[in-house]
Amino acid sequence: MSTVADDALAAGLDHFRTLEARQQPVWPDQDALAAVTSRLEHAAPLAAPADADTLKERLAAAGRGEAFLLQGGDCAESFADAHADRIRNKVRTILQMAVILTHSASTPVVKMGRMAGQYAKPRSSNEETREGVTLPAYRGDMVNGHAFTKESRIPDPERLEQAYRISAATANVVRGFTTGGFADLRQVHEWNRGFMANPAYARYERTADEIDRAIRFMDACGADFDALRSVEFFLSHEALVLDYERALTRHDQRTGRAYDTSAHFLWIGERTRQLDGAHVDFLSRVANPIGVKLGPTATPQDALALAERLNPDNEPGRLTFITRMGAGKIRGVLPALVEAVTWAGVNVTWVTDPMHGNTITSESGYKTRRLSDVLDEVAGFFEVHQALSTVPGGLHMELTGDDVTEVLGGAEQISDAGLALRYETLVDPRLNHQQSLELAFQVAEMIRQ
Ligand code: PEP
Ligand code: MN
Repeated sequence: MSTVADDALAAGLDHFRTLEARQQPVWPDQDALAAVTSRLEHAAPLAAPADADTLKERLAAAGRGEAFLLQGGDCAESFADAHADRIRNKVRTILQMAVILTHSASTPVVKMGRMAGQYAKPRSSNEETREGVTLPAYRGDMVNGHAFTKESRIPDPERLEQAYRISAATANVVRGFTTGGFADLRQVHEWNRGFMANPAYARYERTADEIDRAIRFMDACGADFDALRSVEFFLSHEALVLDYERALTRHDQRTGRAYDTSAHFLWIGERTRQLDGAHVDFLSRVANPIGVKLGPTATPQDALALAERLNPDNEPGRLTFITRMGAGKIRGVLPALVEAVTWAGVNVTWVTDPMHGNTITSESGYKTRRLSDVLDEVAGFFEVHQALSTVPGGLHMELTGDDVTEVLGGAEQISDAGLALRYETLVDPRLNHQQSLELAFQVAEMIRQ
């Protein structure tokens, strides 16, 4: 039964429909859309509001320098890749990176996947042309198909429900891996099996040895290891397709607030963060911890206005700014933003996304990134925060647990010619498993300094 308060809440949640919403699919069949969203409105939540609240506390800790956020996963998840082994490889990569960071920098790591919902993509062009043929752009498996055919590129609202179902299955697999003993710290060696030839793996093995020794020591001292059996692992994606996000938003009786239960954490992308736009309005009305991407054109005024709009109570952990400036720009652009926010006394958790400002086209035509640029942007992020005595709170990465060849460089020295070997991403290039570990070792040193 709906109450007056419920109705008022719902009216507010629907206010975005009166505003400009960029990057939305044009659904050809509104009746089909309505049928799907009304089913999703009654579907079980994918993320529990209480867990979103816990995450908010963790992100507040990261904002104070008492923890470090590690958020990672595909640029675009695909329905076809939602197999247990692929999901496990991704979770394992994030756990290994977290072990490296925790071990060498002695900092608790908040682990979050760009997973179980990262099915919608903003595009810089509405169209894609291949060999003289122009079709609508691919917008993520939640919207249309990646195959370059006219039929597949037509937005299909049934895909929203498919995205929900596959996200639920993915979340279930993640939960199994993170609570069922696989994530037990006593398994650190197991996670690395079979990869010893590579320098990052050999280095990881030494870290695992040290962790083993520490665990055996604590065991001999009679410590209780139940706490090591499972890890907290949160789910996140870009809140892009508002029909999907709205349909999964629930009134939480416990707090009297609305939560977007499609994930624990949602972020607003660089292309949809207009102050008077639909995305900012919608996310201002849900109680989840949220993020906003800030690119090199973001001004201190933009940052302050977004904070005022999205976190008027200045609640710690509510708002994360994910900066994606590019290696060549971060040292010039980030200080003014951090200074303005700090002087205004605004609580923000600062996270670096060293991927999206460093995308290039290789000579052979692949959309790629250089690992050296990625590392340089992370270094710049730490330098800026160190110089201002502010807190670098975390890392937002596009990565996979598989041995793909999408990003140039690293110990395996992936070259332009090597990209063709296993270039599998549907949108942006991801670090592969060993590049992810290499990056974690380097970041651990930056945190330690
Ligand atoms: C992304 O995270 O995949 C993305 C599109 O990022 P941005 O909004 O920062 O461009
Ligand atoms: Mn991307």
